[in-house]
This record gives sequence, C-alpha cells and structure tokens, in this order.
Amino acid sequence: MLLEVDGLSTAYQGLLAIQGVSLDVSEGEIVVVAGANGAGKSTLLKSIAGLERPRDGTVRFDGGRLDGLPGHLITARGVAYVPENKRLFPRLSVADNLRLGSYLHRSRADREAPLERVFALFPRLKERLPQRAATLSGGEQQMLAIGRALMTRPRLLMLDEPSQGIMPKLVDEIFAAVVAIRDAGVTVLLVEQRLAESLAIADRAYVLQTGRVILSGPAAQVRDDPEVRRAYLGI
Ligand code: ATP
Repeated sequence: MLLEVDGLSTAYQGLLAIQGVSLDVSEGEIVVVAGANGAGKSTLLKSIAGLERPRDGTVRFDGGRLDGLPGHLITARGVAYVPENKRLFPRLSVADNLRLGSYLHRSRADREAPLERVFALFPRLKERLPQRAATLSGGEQQMLAIGRALMTRPRLLMLDEPSQGIMPKLVDEIFAAVVAIRDAGVTVLLVEQRLAESLAIADRAYVLQTGRVILSGPAAQVRDDPEVRRAYLGI
C-alpha cells in the first residue's frame, strides 16, 4: 500500500469536517473521492498534504508517517497536491511557475527531466512559456497547476476538482492527462464532482457524506450502486 489513511478526523473551529476517514491507495492506482459540496473532500486532501492538521488518525505513505509533518516535507517525501484554487503565481510566466515546482531539486538535470514530461503531457504549456499565468484560460491554468505539481517528481499526485470551471473540450484533455500520468508511474488520488467521467478512469472510489465514508469499492461497483446512481449520477 502506498498511502494508508486511518481514522482521520479534522475540525474547523471545533466542527468536524471529516470524521474517522480511512482510505488506502495502492501504487499505480487512480482512486476517486466523490461526494456532495461540503462533504469534506477538500479537507481530506488538505489533511493528507499537511495543510490542515488532523485532530485524530494517521496518514502513512510508503511505510512512514506523514501526519504532523509540515507540507513542504510531505512534498519532499513524494506527495504532490493541486488545490481547488490552483494557487498559481499569476504575475509570473508559465516557465517560472514550472521552475518553482522544481525548487526541491538541486541538480539541473533533475530539474529539467520532469519538464520534458510535462511538455509531452501538455504541449500547450510549451507553446506558452513566456505568457503570464494570469492570462491563461481556465483549462490551461489547470494544466499548469498539474504540471507544476509534477515538477516535484511525486509518487502520489492528489488533484482537487481538476475539471472545475473548464470548458468541455478541455475537460476530456484533463481526464486523459490523469490516465497518462498514472501510466507514467504516478499514483493518483482524485477529488471530483464529475463522477461519471472520473469513475470511467478510476480503479476504485470512495464516497464521502458529511465527513464520513459511506461507500467504497471498485469503480464499476460504485457506479452501479443504486444510491450513487440516484444521488450523484442523476439516473
Ligand atoms: P466542495 O465540493 O464544495 O469543495 P468539499 O467536499 O471539498 O466541498 P470541504 O471543503 O472539505 O468539502 O468542507 C467540508 C466542511 O468543512 C464544510 O462544511 C465547510 O464549510 C467546512 N470548512 C472547510 N474549510 C473550512 C475553513 N477553513 N474554516 C471553517 N470551515 C471550513
């Protein structure tokens, strides 16, 4: 198991946003976390990434503990996180945003190898290297945010709603990129509202409701669950 989350609880001002969440991700999987607005999906990712401090539970990655570590050390262990709001540097160029993703690597070769991978995945970024991040389209900004995360050479990539606010044509590109990233050897934990599309590319899925896991299993099984079909797939 690459990632093992056990009994994780995180609260804001005393109110629990996730409660006793347990979740596993094996190397090479795409695992989806689904759930309605406010179910706690972002809080779960932030708690794993070290941006929120869980009040209870453990996070293990490749055998070592992540909970309690600051975010930059979690990144250094091989966990990259793309937040919902992307947090790009809007006034910096595409090239500089990508460079900032590779600050962990000391040698030039180590910094440049992932760049070639990012360009292969998102050729659009290569065409726009001098352009300021703020002037990219929503889809291009998402590509840049994912690209920057890949510059840290993660073993696990966590994406928070990468399809949000993106035109339909680019949504397909983002989902295809997620598959390509996994095929290149990076494990993916994906939070998504577009459940049908994400289940189509996922190995397994977890459904959160008011901070708890109410259902989990192979993607096909979750897709066929009557409650999921009714509540999330509108069938
Ligand atoms: P969405 O799909 O709308 O992004 P989500 O499933 O990601 O929702 P979270 O953002 O994790 O849900 O929020 C879970 C709960 O925690 C919500 O009730 C939310 O209002 C609350 N919450 C999230 N962040 C904070 C914060 N910084 N301070 C206080 N409450 C918060």
